[in-house]
Amino acid sequence: MRLPAQTAGSPQIAAKPGAAQAPAQAPAQAPEPAPGPGRGAAPHGGLEDRIARFATIWSRAIFPVTATSLTRVEFEQHLVPLARTLTDALHARRFDAGIAQKVGAELVAVHCTDPEALAGTLGVIESYLVLYCGSPTPDSPGTEGAEESRSRCARLQHGIAAGFARALRERTLREQEAIARSALTARSDAQQALHASEERFRAVFEGAAVGIGIADLDGNVLEANDALLQMFGGLEGHVRSRNVSEWGHPDDTPHVWRMYGELVRGERESYRVEKPYYRHDGTVLWTNLTVSLLRDADGLPQYQLALMEDTTERRLLNLRLRYEATHDALTGLPNRTLFFERLEKALSAAGDSRFGLCYLDLDGFKAVNDSLGHSAGDRLLVEVADRLQSCATGPGEVVARLGGDEFVALTTGPDTEEKVTDLAVRILSALSTPIRLEGRELTVRGSIGIVEGRARERTPAEVLRSADITMYRAKAAGGNRFEFADAEADARAITRHGLTNALPAALERGEFFIEYQPLVHMHDGSIHGAEALVRWSHPQYGVLGPDRFIPLAERTGLIVPLGRWVLEESVRQARNWQRQLGGASLRINVNLSPTQLHHPGLVADTIAVLEKSGLAPGALCLEVTESALIGADDELLEPLRRLAALGVDIALDDFGTGYSNLANLRRLPVSVLKLDRSFTQGMQQQPADPVDVKIVEGIVALAHSLELAVTVEGVETGAQAAQLRALGCDTAQGWYYARPGAPDRIHTLSLSDAVPTAS
Ligand code: C2E
Ligand code: MG
Ligand code: MG
Repeated sequence: MRLPAQTAGSPQIAAKPGAAQAPAQAPAQAPEPAPGPGRGAAPHGGLEDRIARFATIWSRAIFPVTATSLTRVEFEQHLVPLARTLTDALHARRFDAGIAQKVGAELVAVHCTDPEALAGTLGVIESYLVLYCGSPTPDSPGTEGAEESRSRCARLQHGIAAGFARALRERTLREQEAIARSALTARSDAQQALHASEERFRAVFEGAAVGIGIADLDGNVLEANDALLQMFGGLEGHVRSRNVSEWGHPDDTPHVWRMYGELVRGERESYRVEKPYYRHDGTVLWTNLTVSLLRDADGLPQYQLALMEDTTERRLLNLRLRYEATHDALTGLPNRTLFFERLEKALSAAGDSRFGLCYLDLDGFKAVNDSLGHSAGDRLLVEVADRLQSCATGPGEVVARLGGDEFVALTTGPDTEEKVTDLAVRILSALSTPIRLEGRELTVRGSIGIVEGRARERTPAEVLRSADITMYRAKAAGGNRFEFADAEADARAITRHGLTNALPAALERGEFFIEYQPLVHMHDGSIHGAEALVRWSHPQYGVLGPDRFIPLAERTGLIVPLGRWVLEESVRQARNWQRQLGGASLRINVNLSPTQLHHPGLVADTIAVLEKSGLAPGALCLEVTESALIGADDELLEPLRRLAALGVDIALDDFGTGYSNLANLRRLPVSVLKLDRSFTQGMQQQPADPVDVKIVEGIVALAHSLELAVTVEGVETGAQAAQLRALGCDTAQGWYYARPGAPDRIHTLSLSDAVPTAS
């Protein structure tokens, strides 16, 4: 069999299956024939086989340009019936070109719509259809004859092309129609969505809990929702058809209207402020207001949209909370917090502004509280607060309660030197009218510390501290008076503060030491014992006496470890003396502070110290000041009673200064009265003050009748000593015998049998 002429020049093409060749140039570049007889040779096998191979060639030619989702194999399977249809048409008795049109349409149906797919198909049919499928058997040329086959093949190609084109056009039309339809649908969907969104907006607008209003750029209100109307009191006319500019309020922050101007001019997109409005009934509505600019499609400002949240109640609550946080619940006066704010403001005032501050503390308020009860105390404070408030009514004047019975009054301005003195005088005189309480007339007095000065020189804390220090000075000077702050007194107080802070480290570093002052038997001048007196060897201030630091140690609680150290050290020292002096019964007196009295470890600590040193309890005398025992109940006295039961002596120190009830002496577990130095001083002059003589005589008689020994303090002269001896005092202590000194000095003293000192 001969090769058809048309295929003679077909170039060799890659056999790579599926490789994108150029079927468009077919028939000149038809794909390689399917495996079989090879190019130029007539294919062997049955017709079905050859049809299948033709389909393979066809699919190789056009699959690469097909936009189908079928795989190559599936696509080929799809072409097989088409190849068969074409073969049938080739062999049919009556040729029907319409069959070919269906094949063309079928190609379009499987997405072979690319023009190259059509060209490739036509090329493959041109080159291989007759070759592979032209005869029913490989060897028989078929009934139609070669010429007929060629002609049919050409008509089949035309038919395929026509069917392809029509199908493609129809498909395009269908697609266009679908696009148009969906565009139409989309448009109506959009309209519906718009409608729905408008509906939604309406629903939100009407039902919103926040007030929503729309106004034009001139400020005319166009729309307002219900919530907004309700906020304004429910009157529509009060909101709609009004102009935004009518809603100014004196409490508007200055930038509100500036931002409004910027917004309506299109210079800002939105602003948010807290803004008050007047309702039609004159009440005030507070809102959190957010105003946004609405622009049209071209971006030009069109409307303003206001969202308002009613914050009136929250604001009131905040104001109330703020009031409660800044005012004293009892008296209604500003409290410490608010006063600090005011003072801070006064102290940061510009120009030559000055301030004057009165710091008042009531004298003896504790006694009122203790004797009449706390509710009476409270009523007294309320009355005092009222009176103070009536004293400070001038501009820039404030009264506050700092706590307890402490009040402050502040005055500001250019001439506070005079004003603050007037204020203090007014306060003292306002207090001087007795207050009626529980049917009694109570006289209230107070001590005032005044600080006056220029603004911007001190902090509020510094001013209050100075005023507090000064107030204490007024109190120490007898109370019911005012004192002006002075830098030196402040410095002393500040030193006190520094000392307080340095105390703990001082104890750790061993900066304390003890001096011993002998106690002498009056009748023979022999040494009875010594009182331990603590001192602080301060690295900066030198040796400090107990009056400088014991009260500070008391206040901070450090007195407990310090007192324990003194006890331990002096008991050990007493034991040493006893050993050195061959068992002489030298006694040691140790002072106890009120805080130590309350400390639960007092008894156990004392016993432990005695046991450790081996000193007999009877050689120890604990001195307790009279004032510490005034009003002492059994609970407080219990530890002292237990110590007394062990044999420890208890002395009532500074007796005669605490105005204690003499009858009370019987209750106390004391065995010694130490007469305060003030009585001794009365004996200094010659002749001695007869009243003091009488008092001492009486006390000694009373003490002896209660089996108490009497020690006198502060004996400085021989005359005093003689007088006190004559009055029956048992032991004495004072510079006349010896000043407090180092422990080894007690030897010289005892050996010389208490020879009076030279000084
Ligand atoms: P106090 O217990 O009444 O001690 C007597 C004070 O009088 C001592 O003062 C002493 O130095 C002083 N003094 C003694 N003789 C004379 C004199 O002839 N003339 C004058 N003008 N004064 C004399 P000091 O040492 O300054 O002690 C003061 C107070 O400190 C003591 O008074 C006592 O209450 C307290 N104190 C001292 N040491 C301690 C201690 O270790 N613990 C406690 N809690 N308080 C102590
Ligand atoms: Mg003492
Ligand atoms: Mg004393």
